[in-house]
Amino acid sequence: MGWGEEAERRLNEIANCSAGGEGVTRFPFTQQHMAANEIIRSWMSKAGLTTRVDAAGTLIGRREGSAGHKTFLIGSHQDSVRNGGRYDGTMGIVVACLAMEKLARDRTMLPFSVELLAFADEEGVRFPTALLGPRALAGTVDQAVLRMADRDGITLADALRTFGGDPNEVVNLKRECGETLGYLEVHIEQGPVLERENTPIGIVTGICGIERNFVTFTGETGHAGTVPMTERRDTLVAAAEFITAVENAARRAEDLCATVGSLVLKPDVANAIPCLCKLTLELRSPRDGDRSRFADWARDTGHTISSRRTWILPWSALTSNLLCRVRIGWLTLCRELQARLAIALRITPLPWPIFARFP
Ligand SMILES: [Zn+2]
Repeated sequence: MGWGEEAERRLNEIANCSAGGEGVTRFPFTQQHMAANEIIRSWMSKAGLTTRVDAAGTLIGRREGSAGHKTFLIGSHQDSVRNGGRYDGTMGIVVACLAMEKLARDRTMLPFSVELLAFADEEGVRFPTALLGPRALAGTVDQAVLRMADRDGITLADALRTFGGDPNEVVNLKRECGETLGYLEVHIEQGPVLERENTPIGIVTGICGIERNFVTFTGETGHAGTVPMTERRDTLVAAAEFITAVENAARRAEDLCATVGSLVLKPDVANAIPCLCKLTLELRSPRDGDRSRFADWARDTGHTISSRRTWILPWSALTSNLLCRVRIGWLTLCRELQARLAIALRITPLPWPIFARFP
């Protein structure tokens, strides 16, 4: 069996560790997670790695390099969204395990140590927080998240304890730059570009920063048959104009994605004019400045549309509501690592969003 076939076999094997239903459902610190970790542990052992679980529930397989050298981190997340795909996350673990197995089989010596990480949580589906394992390594865990509870009232700290983790030790997992060489993850592309380009693999050059804005249009409800069309304060129509304006602007912008993915209407019935429309506007860009400027423009546009369409104190209505910005800054990936990967994969650089592809 070739390496590719073995990767596929392993991806199918671990996809069975699922809570049932369509696709893969594997939340952190559950029976399914436990079963998946047993399988991953066996792959790590087969690759000659020494395994352990850290305080944040990350399964780690280590290969020791020569003394005094830094550690290179590879891996991905083992958890899934509800009814998720079988390649998301586990692909990065399976491929990393096979790469380490190949190195061991070929008796290839490396001038550094390698740690293969299978993170417990990335998706943030079970608990209203995400990335506990990676944040712990980066030293950015907010202790408050450990008190967050899932739908059954079980806190993240308790779930971690039953899994052999230690909530009190999570803050001590931080890796220093001086001991860490870098981090590399293979991940399924969650978009159509590589397939459309008939390209098997690409190198990511950066990770987009994200912000979520919560926008509320406030108008006035009324009967669908008695309020004349010219005298309406219809918030859904205002929102529709806003969404279209945002889409048009985002299409013209460079390297920016704008998505209105959630909409709440009141009173949400067939024969009444909507008096309230709440929506989310998520913005992503590899440049924080571009993203921030777009958000400012969107807010101004929302105000303008609101003042024309809904008539009700548009500035204060939108100013007070367009405030909930959740922001995560962008990251650029190490250029030297990009260059080395490009040579290893025989890839030529391409501009965003493909970044790179086979010649
Ligand atoms: Zn993923």
